Amino acid sequence: MKEIKLKAFAKINLSLDVCGLLDNGFHEVSMVMQQILLCDDVKVRWTEDSSVQGINISLSTNRYYLPTDERNLAYKAALLMAEKYAADINGSISIDIVKRIPVAAGLAGGSSNGAAVIHALNMLWDLKLPLQKLCDTGAKLGSDVPFCIMGQAAANDNLKPVYSKDPLACHCALATGTGTELTPLQGLKSHLVLSKPAISVSTAEVYKGIDSEHIPERPDNKELIHALRTNNRKLVEKNMINVLENFTLKRYPVIVYTKNKIQQLCSCEGVLMSGSGPTVYGLCKNIREAKELCRRMLEDNKESFWTRTTW
Ligand code: ATP
Repeated sequence: MKEIKLKAFAKINLSLDVCGLLDNGFHEVSMVMQQILLCDDVKVRWTEDSSVQGINISLSTNRYYLPTDERNLAYKAALLMAEKYAADINGSISIDIVKRIPVAAGLAGGSSNGAAVIHALNMLWDLKLPLQKLCDTGAKLGSDVPFCIMGQAAANDNLKPVYSKDPLACHCALATGTGTELTPLQGLKSHLVLSKPAISVSTAEVYKGIDSEHIPERPDNKELIHALRTNNRKLVEKNMINVLENFTLKRYPVIVYTKNKIQQLCSCEGVLMSGSGPTVYGLCKNIREAKELCRRMLEDNKESFWTRTTW
């Protein structure tokens, strides 16, 4: 029996622009994604066993409402890896996920769990696949998975030595195309607070909705990348724009309330909804401010966290 434990980190969007609609129905995006320290713990155990026919997969998690079968992205990731790389072995994969990242929140929690399972099986089966190959497999699971794979390679202590020379191991990236074409970037160093109103927002509904939405302002991702490279915090904050907010803020007043409250309490300008929401985050000037802001946000949203970006 062999086992590996990985941290499956969440991400925030420093920007999100939608550039068009592709023939396959997907939206073309241009967005800057940044990994944060808030994470789930994913433990994957492999037991080689010739008495098992093929590969047997089981999954447990501390969130009773999440599926534990092939609807779970971590389970799906194991299936995908087994199909591709385990044709000639028999045994059991058991996955245990301790979740902290809010679910359906715009923080890529499920994608990150899937990414961790891809990394884990690459290690447990000694496949020695480069990050590009892992990302190609991850893209079949979901468009946020490749970024999570790259981030985990840069931030997990047991993966760092393996990928220290791989340029794709990074904490921040520009995502284009359907979100899976990734260019590593210098990341942002900041403490932050995250707050998720107790509502569910469907990613598909939001992307469908913005097609008929007027978009008053867009991020200048070139300027944002320059700002990150030169560590110009004010310029970063100026370009923290998420075009999906036009749709969600209009329809879900509780997101407006959350955003306004963070803006009022925070000394920084950078306050934005992540992904398709409903989580809103605010950059903080130090850990003290992040903790204090989190205390205040917990009055309204019980899924509020203080954390920082990874670097
Ligand atoms: P993204 O930012 O990538 O769009 P998200 O943060 O909005 O993701 P997730 O937390 O990944 O959303 O969950 C989206 C859906 O995926 C949920 O409805 C949930 O039931 C399903 N799901 C499947 N597997 C998982 C998992 N391991 N963790 C969380 N959600 C999962």
